[in-house]
Amino acid sequence: MSQRMKPPMGEDNAWWWDMAAAGELGIQRCKSCQTLRHPPTPMCGQCRSIEWDSIASSGKGVICSYTILTHPQFPGYEYPLIVILVDLEEGTRFTSQLVGCAPEDVDFGLPVEMIIQEDPDGFKLPVFKLQEKH
Ligand SMILES: [Zn+2]
Repeated sequence: MSQRMKPPMGEDNAWWWDMAAAGELGIQRCKSCQTLRHPPTPMCGQCRSIEWDSIASSGKGVICSYTILTHPQFPGYEYPLIVILVDLEEGTRFTSQLVGCAPEDVDFGLPVEMIIQEDPDGFKLPVFKLQEKH
């Protein structure tokens, strides 16, 4: 399989990919008002502070929305591709991919947990799987 395209990385988001490479799902946090935000931006939308740090998400959440992609197909992904919008426990939303499950098994409100998918070239990407039933 050919390699997936790498995300553009700059000053505003390289830290997030560094956390992913370390196995964590990062969420940016305003140092002034503690508001969590994703995707990373230079300024807080609540209080306009440019001071921020980050926390590691628990990686747990529920499926808020999803779509099944069959076309167009990009290299490095397996199709059909299940793209999900996750409501994380921390309160932010995260767009990702659901793996290890068939498209007909996806539904709104299902609990999911983050796992790190490592490409053959070592690139690490946070994706999600359905939480095991207990
Ligand atoms: Zn703020």
